[in-house]
Amino acid sequence: MDKNQTEKVNLLIIGSGPAGYTAAIYAARANLKPVLYQGIQPGGQLTITTDVENYPGFPDGIQGPELMVHFEKQAQRMGADIRYGLATKVDLSARPYKVWIDEEKIIEAESIIISTGASAKWLNIESEQRLNGYGVSACAVCDGFFFRGKDVAIVGAGDTAAEEALYLSKLCTNVHMLIRRDEMRASKVMQDRVKNTPNIKIYWNSETDEILGEKTVEAVRIKNNQSGEKVEVPIKGFFVAIGHTPNSDIFKGVIDMDEAGYIKTIPGSSKTNVEGVFAAGDVQDKIYRQAVTAAGSGCMAALDAERYLSEKGIH
Ligand SMILES: Cc1cc2nc3c(=O)[nH]c(=O)nc-3n(C[C@H](O)[C@H](O)[C@H](O)COP(=O)(O)OP(=O)(O)OC[C@H]3O[C@@H](n4cnc5c(N)ncnc54)[C@H](O)[C@@H]3O)c2cc1C
Repeated sequence: MDKNQTEKVNLLIIGSGPAGYTAAIYAARANLKPVLYQGIQPGGQLTITTDVENYPGFPDGIQGPELMVHFEKQAQRMGADIRYGLATKVDLSARPYKVWIDEEKIIEAESIIISTGASAKWLNIESEQRLNGYGVSACAVCDGFFFRGKDVAIVGAGDTAAEEALYLSKLCTNVHMLIRRDEMRASKVMQDRVKNTPNIKIYWNSETDEILGEKTVEAVRIKNNQSGEKVEVPIKGFFVAIGHTPNSDIFKGVIDMDEAGYIKTIPGSSKTNVEGVFAAGDVQDKIYRQAVTAAGSGCMAALDAERYLSEKGIH
């Protein structure tokens, strides 16, 4: 490909998770001829999970990667132009906006939908990767249901970890909560709720030494980082709740975001602070973080983009 080869498009969609593909379906059906770049994880976060039981329309559940193949095929069938490639740099100072793909090609876009998602933070131990989707999860709302009436462990000490521990406590027999220090970062109210929940057992100054199990999670070996003492606790599910990183780095300094890097949208819309640039999915949502909410906001972004392009007389 020629360096700095330029192509003009009406609508560029960055990201191929539920938000990006849904935006592509709506935009293609509105004849906006969207071009979508998939990034390094075609299909997004659901491609690293197994059973998805809460996406409506699949009464028997569906595997995450299979669901995302359906999304892609549907977008393609509607006429979206779906491509491999990573957006590496942007210039949003004037329209048409410029987006560099793989530091080579430049897309000049009249409007953009940012649907670059977020990445869960992991502990980065071998057993966590090996058992991911087989008892290891980063989402209690998504996967807690699979462990009804069973024991689970959760790692994390912030508000989200507290919320997820409380969510799990209503489904699971016992929730073993591992906290690295001798205090929690969560707000006082959340801490009190966790501490007053009888089936949440807190392990202070404790870290994950290893998640045990051949094919599925069977136990966790917990290490006390003060005494060095190790204990094995039988569990079926292991939840990592140490935070998420929104994939918004290339927009820093240009698009308004909060201190964690989540893109700010005007409430009730997908509009960002830059005219004609919209955001959808987990990159702008630190509260719900579900495939169905990401898809819903992708639909909003496509409708907002269509109205914007129409008002500008471009479409
Ligand atoms: C293990 C796990 C299990 C889950 N289970 C469920 C579940 O059962 N039910 C449920 O509803 N939700 C579940 N979720 C949450 C769900 O996956 C997310 O809420 C949803 O995928 C968010 O969709 P999104 O489109 O915003 O972004 P993502 O799915 O995060 O996709 C982001 C996309 O952007 C692309 N991208 C990023 N940066 C760039 C760039 N610079 N250029 C081009 N492309 C880029 C990536 O390649 C990717 O395709 C789970 C999440 C995880 C991690």
